[in-house]
Amino acid sequence: MTAIAGAGMAGLVAAARARQLRADVTVYEKGDRVGGSMLLSSGVVWRHLRFEDFRVDCSRGDERLQRLIWERLDESLAWLESTTGVRPLLDDTENPRTTGRRYDPGELSAALSREAGEVQLGQPFPFAERLVLATGGFPVRVACKHGLLVRSNPWSEGDGLDHARGLGATTAGDLDELYARAMPAPPARIGESDYVHLSQLYGGRARVTNERGEEFFQQPPAWHENDLAQAIARQPGGTAWFELDDPSHPKVQAAREAGGEVRDENGRVRVHVAAGVTHTLGGLRVDERARVLREDGTPIGGLVAAGVDVGGIASGGYASGLAQALVLGLVAAETLASDGSM
Ligand SMILES: Cc1cc2nc3c(=O)[nH]c(=O)nc-3n(C[C@H](O)[C@H](O)[C@H](O)COP(=O)(O)OP(=O)(O)OC[C@H]3O[C@@H](n4cnc5c(N)ncnc54)[C@H](O)[C@@H]3O)c2cc1C
Repeated sequence: MTAIAGAGMAGLVAAARARQLRADVTVYEKGDRVGGSMLLSSGVVWRHLRFEDFRVDCSRGDERLQRLIWERLDESLAWLESTTGVRPLLDDTENPRTTGRRYDPGELSAALSREAGEVQLGQPFPFAERLVLATGGFPVRVACKHGLLVRSNPWSEGDGLDHARGLGATTAGDLDELYARAMPAPPARIGESDYVHLSQLYGGRARVTNERGEEFFQQPPAWHENDLAQAIARQPGGTAWFELDDPSHPKVQAAREAGGEVRDENGRVRVHVAAGVTHTLGGLRVDERARVLREDGTPIGGLVAAGVDVGGIASGGYASGLAQALVLGLVAAETLASDGSM
């Protein structure tokens, strides 16, 4: 029997694919529901249109894994739709740099869960000789360590990372590097269902200062603004102010309605924002077959990892966590099946 740790996109995909390959699998989910962070997401599974742009955007990432995801995403989306019967809400990402599809996250989570077989909710994964780690990295741990907001499922605390390290695994990427978003700072009320619509994604049009009034981010942010969000995370308190000449901007209104601190001053508006951690970019080092590696590059028998438990793919930038979860979930299942170890 193979244990699959985590019922997010990566774990559910790995389980569904493993069952197609006639493997006996059980999914263990620490939380009280399936879907992980996919359930809270915008549901856009995407890749860069051109591989060169992936390299430029995520310049410190592992080129072999980037190529794997980039090359396999389109066929993986076809697998996803034919296996689950789910149709995209949109055949487009509405971003000229990228290509992919938007799904309803609730529908996709439920459909994948049906294909995944037995899912034990409220059950952290047990020790198993054949294990797929898909626990979603350690956003909660990083947020607690640095006093930042959590903008992910509440259970991804680094259990997969700790387990693999205990078996001698090595890591890839910077373990402090994040995919983060500027969110309205406390006392704003932000529930899980607000994570998408309350994102303050207009830093490129704003004057950005920290609590000391310093303009700490000099260059224009990248299109995804992850560079700016990470810089906010490093400021005192993990907070900043966005000053804008458009008090009626819909995101500003959303921050105001959520009870965030929004100050109107002489036709301009200042919004207090805080970095919210969506997921970690560093994590376990794997090869192109999703096998977890030791420092010397040898694989640890029976141990594969998928999704954002894997590190060093989007390093230096921003890429689709759902694409990483989908492609590596499939690869992880196929590796265990082809090794005859499931
Ligand atoms: C608001 C928001 C919007 C987003 N929008 C997009 C988007 O549009 N496009 C995109 O590509 N990405 C998006 N993302 C990121 C994307 O959702 C994640 O990168 C992706 O879902 C990660 O999938 P995963 O399966 O690796 O991990 P997760 O979805 O985090 O799943 C990990 C699962 O493991 C469980 N777990 C943790 N520890 C244990 C344990 N010890 N035992 C058993 N289970 C455990 C967790 O409870 C969780 O269910 C968004 C994320 C958020 C929060």
